[in-house]
Amino acid sequence: MRVLVVGQGLAGSWTAWYLRAAGVDVHVIDPNASTTSSRVAAGLITPITGRRLHTTWKGSVVTPAAYDAYRHIEERFSVRILDRRPLRRVFRDPDMPALFAKRCTTDEFDWLRVAPIEPGRHDVVDYPFGGFEVDAATVDTNVFLDTMCHALSVEHGVIDPETWKQLEDTYDTVVWCDGWTAQHHPLWSWLPFAPVKGEILDVHIDGMHLDHILSAGIWLIPMGEARYRLGSTYDWDTLDDIPTTAARDWLLEQGRHLVQRDIVVERHRAAVRPSSHMRRPYVGPHPVHPRHIICNGFGTKGSLLTPWVCKVLAEFIVQATPLDSEIDVRQWWKA
Ligand SMILES: Cc1cc2nc3c(=O)[nH]c(=O)nc-3n(C[C@H](O)[C@H](O)[C@H](O)COP(=O)(O)OP(=O)(O)OC[C@H]3O[C@@H](n4cnc5c(N)ncnc54)[C@H](O)[C@@H]3O)c2cc1C
Repeated sequence: MRVLVVGQGLAGSWTAWYLRAAGVDVHVIDPNASTTSSRVAAGLITPITGRRLHTTWKGSVVTPAAYDAYRHIEERFSVRILDRRPLRRVFRDPDMPALFAKRCTTDEFDWLRVAPIEPGRHDVVDYPFGGFEVDAATVDTNVFLDTMCHALSVEHGVIDPETWKQLEDTYDTVVWCDGWTAQHHPLWSWLPFAPVKGEILDVHIDGMHLDHILSAGIWLIPMGEARYRLGSTYDWDTLDDIPTTAARDWLLEQGRHLVQRDIVVERHRAAVRPSSHMRRPYVGPHPVHPRHIICNGFGTKGSLLTPWVCKVLAEFIVQATPLDSEIDVRQWWKA
């Protein structure tokens, strides 16, 4: 079987990796741009997200799968990709402690180490309504992508989506892992995409040395030596990779409010997340042209979800193992 994987972000990398591991002849093409979602991403893996404090979709399955997968690549290629460290969530309104207590009475957090934080000041940060600490991690997506680019012998180039039919002359299957621009793709524009631009700052905070990730609407990730990554913004209207003063100022204001210190910006980047309207990945064959398969819609959770989802997809392609019904794109097709 000869497979073309279009795009080498997190989705294309993991899909090609698992296909190759199954003995498939895989060819990967990507333009090697620096402002893709996967290159700009903070790489956070957080098991509890959002204002409702729910665990992430399939968290107890996809989280250990992600850790194992990145560790495997680290060991295989002697690189450092995964940084596991606690995340502290700061409650910002008075309803959160009761909601948190309620969640703790269910079995939703059973697979996690979650510890409450009392209201007060801890490590230079105010927790007016308390918070909690949970195990989390960050993925160095650039080290991962560079490692996979080499391992998969990625060809640097672009496939014109309009030529999709001609690709069938050369390949048995084409897996489209082309990120947010798939919303304009002739084969996939029927899917309900909801791409969202995000901006992120690399900053220096003099004299502040946190050993944990902070989350309070924004997040602050320690990068060593009083350097931090501060993010991020959400803009559904302007879909480009141009950093804006408005986003920079907003992030700095939020960050200064959180840590009560001056913050110096060292780098500012922007990219568009390939988000889906349903907040689930879009995976599987085109209902009418099944030699074309999509792997997309990872939104804000590509680091966490791609290792597990792309493995499931590779098993579907190689062994015809059924896809999880929640991610199968065929459910969105209206002929
Ligand atoms: C500011 C920001 C912060 C983020 N933070 C996090 C985070 O903390 N945790 C997390 O899990 N996720 C985060 N994300 C989201 C995460 O980056 C995405 O979920 C993930 O990168 C999606 O990967 P992908 O491979 O589907 O898409 P992409 O990374 O967009 O990759 C698509 C690839 O396809 C290539 N391509 C496109 N068209 C073609 C073509 N025609 N021919 C060849 N190649 C093509 C592109 O150049 C690109 O390399 C963040 C995103 C942003 C923007």
